Amino acid sequence: MSSMPAHPQSATTGAASDAARDSSLAGGVPRRDESATRARCQTKDAPPADDWFQRDDESTSSWHAREKQLIRWHCAGCPLMWQCRRDAVERGEQYGVWGGLTEADLRKLQTSIRQARRAAVAA
Ligand code: SF4
Repeated sequence: MSSMPAHPQSATTGAASDAARDSSLAGGVPRRDESATRARCQTKDAPPADDWFQRDDESTSSWHAREKQLIRWHCAGCPLMWQCRRDAVERGEQYGVWGGLTEADLRKLQTSIRQARRAAVAA
């Protein structure tokens, strides 16, 4: 089983790269990956890749509501949630819904892990 690929909107600018979006799918799982058949963001009823990110003209409150919907309707029942979350943390993803986490929660988790790693090194 291969690891998750880069998510379509992992650029630090926050602006989605069309090329990156074209090369990835919702939730960042490639269709050819055998695990993709189990990822909830890859089902035919799942939202398209762009819907897993805040739209340029979307208010923050609307995006936050949509993040919660994506998580509740798709990630919560996804058998790859923990793998997806771990991989997103390792890649330092900053944008989009990953592994059942909102962007804010993903960033908090990344910060906590960085702090714990620094503390472990300093100990
Ligand atoms: S946890 Fe969410 S984003 Fe990750 S593979 Fe599953 S449905 Fe897709």
